[in-house]
Amino acid sequence: MIAATGIEQTIVSQPTPDLDGDGLLGTFPEGRRLVGTRCDSCGCTMIGARIVCSTCVGTEVSPTALSTTGVLYAFTRLHLGGATVRPLGYVDLDDEVRTLADLREDGEPLRPGMRVVLGVDGDDWYFIPVASAPSGE
Ligand SMILES: [Zn+2]
Repeated sequence: MIAATGIEQTIVSQPTPDLDGDGLLGTFPEGRRLVGTRCDSCGCTMIGARIVCSTCVGTEVSPTALSTTGVLYAFTRLHLGGATVRPLGYVDLDDEVRTLADLREDGEPLRPGMRVVLGVDGDDWYFIPVASAPSGE
């Protein structure tokens, strides 16, 4: 039920309901990257496609490819039943964007502060410790 407030709302972005199929992975000249938006007024970088800057509310914004590397800020392991464990954490990308991300920990164990790199598997994306990443990433 929607209450009649008399105030018209303009929705400029929608929350992402799930990491699966979030539409954040794009194809750029440099390869597949997370989609970002850079504000042409204040220089702020945001994750996702935006039409308004979340810092200065400016509308002069441009799409950009986000950095593929960053630092693991914090993480947890979700136990989903059975033996399924889904590592999930916040990654601070090198362009000062923090994102919630699936993590993979093949090889080097996860720890806060470690360098991580973007990995792409089909339409899925994740971060993995730099030391564990396949060569070429
Ligand atoms: Zn701005």
